[in-house]
Amino acid sequence: MERRIDHYLKDLIDEDRFTFYEAVRDFSDDVIAPQILGWEREHALVSDAAIQQMAELGLFGLPIDEAYGGQGGDHLDLVLMGIALGYHSQSVAITPGAAVSLGAKPLMLCGNEEQKKAHLPDLAAGKRMFVFGLSEPGRGSDAANPEVTAVKTDNGWRLRGEKCWSTNAAWASHVVVHALTHPDAKNGYRTTCFIVPMDHPQVHYQEMAGKQVWKQSSTGSISFDGVEVGDESILGDLQGGFKVMVTTLNGGRLFVAGLAVASLAFALDKCRQYAQERIQFEDKPIGRFQRVQDVILDMDMALESGVTWLMHACDLYLENRLERERAAKVKIECSRRASDLLVRAMEICGGVACLDEFGLIRHHDDLFVTRVGEGSNLALKTQAVRPLLPDIARILQ
Ligand SMILES: Cc1cc2nc3c(=O)[nH]c(=O)nc-3n(C[C@H](O)[C@H](O)[C@H](O)COP(=O)(O)OP(=O)(O)OC[C@H]3O[C@@H](n4cnc5c(N)ncnc54)[C@H](O)[C@@H]3O)c2cc1C
Repeated sequence: MERRIDHYLKDLIDEDRFTFYEAVRDFSDDVIAPQILGWEREHALVSDAAIQQMAELGLFGLPIDEAYGGQGGDHLDLVLMGIALGYHSQSVAITPGAAVSLGAKPLMLCGNEEQKKAHLPDLAAGKRMFVFGLSEPGRGSDAANPEVTAVKTDNGWRLRGEKCWSTNAAWASHVVVHALTHPDAKNGYRTTCFIVPMDHPQVHYQEMAGKQVWKQSSTGSISFDGVEVGDESILGDLQGGFKVMVTTLNGGRLFVAGLAVASLAFALDKCRQYAQERIQFEDKPIGRFQRVQDVILDMDMALESGVTWLMHACDLYLENRLERERAAKVKIECSRRASDLLVRAMEICGGVACLDEFGLIRHHDDLFVTRVGEGSNLALKTQAVRPLLPDIARILQ
């Protein structure tokens, strides 16, 4: 049975892109899918061997310029990779996904030539990983005002404080730290980003315990205990840290929307198959019940509209025309529709949906991250509504 997502993608992207998507999809089917259950049951992260294989496929360098050792692709390729890998596991998809869309991206967008030359070739080859140090224990949605501080010294800067929820921390070579540098400046201009090596003796990393989502993805806390760095570590402009973070997140939100679409695509195919095979009453399949059909059709409509909107948003992003609010809306809509529908998908499959090997429960749990990650949907709505009510937005500013 053809995947429903493939049916739609064929109409939405050109042949070369579809060929690339197929290659990652086949790798995901043949190499990743058979291992996921084992990793889950052993409470293991994505294996080093799988990361190495993804690196060999060039997935860590997709949108990085060929001049820096990348594949010379673009953000749409990255989103397609997320859909292809995320179909089986968001955890696996987010590993190269965050390494690029949150790790390498700030450097690509805001780094100077020296920084790009120093890091991008190894990032593209998967030999290094940058993590995105925005969130903190006390600062989530209110990310413009970090508690991590960077104080000017004679030789550079001294950083103190803690970041958390840092995806890929276990494998990271560097963290891009968003730190308060000018508390008295106006909101949005108080911070600066610094590239800090993870092996600095005053940097301490710990894997966050007890996480029940994205179970194969590394998520760490990183603390900075008087870390001294030079001026050359500044990424972007002094006092321009928030801009670096926000610019990065626009693209990141499209990637997260792609993960939501991938989970919905998997659930739809699983339900289509199950509804036609599972026999109950009168030796006939449950797919004949209209209430079962109803869920399947709702999922299909959400998938078609979600992936169409997402591809359109990617096109706007590539043309530099995607406003922040629109990137936020795509993530909000794809994630909430997919996660609302996953509960109904599980319901029409009955008890078997509770088994890890059936796959739906994994996507159900992981979809929660797409609702809160890269900006909680409810907080993002505050942003997304602004262009609709400009007079109110002015009052609230
Ligand atoms: C698995 C995982 C991986 C992550 N990876 C990274 C990473 O790599 N790097 C990184 O920096 N961060 C990362 N994050 C953090 C993520 O971006 C934050 O969880 C997110 O920004 C929300 O912050 P918070 O969890 O502190 O929620 P809070 O800011 O405490 O908000 C809690 C809730 O309050 C409500 N709320 C808050 N503000 C508003 C508002 N303005 N309007 C309306 N309602 C509001 C919303 O319901 C919101 O969900 C990750 C998170 C998870 C779960």
